Amino acid sequence: VPARHVTARVAPLGTRLVLALVEDRTRERRVEAVRRDFVANVSHELKTPVGAIRLLAEAVHDAAGDPEAVKRFSNRMLTESDRLSRLVQQVIELSRLQGDEPLEQPMPVDLDDVIKVAVDTSAIDADSKRISIVVGGTPHLSLFGNEEQVTAAVANLVANAVSYSECDATVLVSTKADDDMVEISVVDQGIGIPAGEIDRIFERFYRVDPARHRSTGGTGLGLSIVKHVAATHGGDVRVWSVEGQGSTFTLTLPRYFPARGIQEDGR
Ligand code: ADP
Repeated sequence: VPARHVTARVAPLGTRLVLALVEDRTRERRVEAVRRDFVANVSHELKTPVGAIRLLAEAVHDAAGDPEAVKRFSNRMLTESDRLSRLVQQVIELSRLQGDEPLEQPMPVDLDDVIKVAVDTSAIDADSKRISIVVGGTPHLSLFGNEEQVTAAVANLVANAVSYSECDATVLVSTKADDDMVEISVVDQGIGIPAGEIDRIFERFYRVDPARHRSTGGTGLGLSIVKHVAATHGGDVRVWSVEGQGSTFTLTLPRYFPARGIQEDGR
């Protein structure tokens, strides 16, 4: 197998008999490379909020006699530390999912519960921009899967829809199903995604506009988590978007396990 990484163990069993164990390590190597790359990215990403918190702590220290400045700097410290804790939480989630191994113990998952938690998670941000989140489609659907993972995926899609919408917009979360699959769509009327960037947004730490991203406090990991949750369930996630008009993300998951078509790219 010349183009792949294999290890072979050969044991002579006598003059004419040889036992050869050949193990294909291609996938293992690829996953290892992805992991190394991930650790390098994470270290880089952690440095930004940690460095900012350190500088702000110094600023608070130096501004001891000026209550206004202390308040300003400490508010920014709170923002940075929230960002840091979101980043750490998402890194943990992602590192659990990276192998894209199919779920071991799929359990019944109630989609109404999933959507309720996902919507509640974004309620404060939505309220502060007067965004209404409307839930529609087919109620009382369920699937076999991992409730925590499915909730994290839907919550990330809803959080993005809110983050990348202007004030007073509407976000629609809707569900439908056929005999095999359930579909959860999150539709926004926000800034949309340029056609040339659409293929890249599911990559870890990829952001269309890093400057805007900093102000939204995003980590660049949300869609990567969604993609891996889809893969561990044997489903997929698709996006349709028009720049300046909005985006629709559709997560499709099999209702029953085991599912088909698990991706193997390890990303
Ligand atoms: P982030 O934490 O930056 O939101 P994600 O992985 O969730 O990271 O998304 C990656 C990038 O995709 C975002 O930085 C943003 O540029 C783009 N994006 C994701 N969802 C939307 C959306 N609903 N509308 C417009 N752009 C989006």
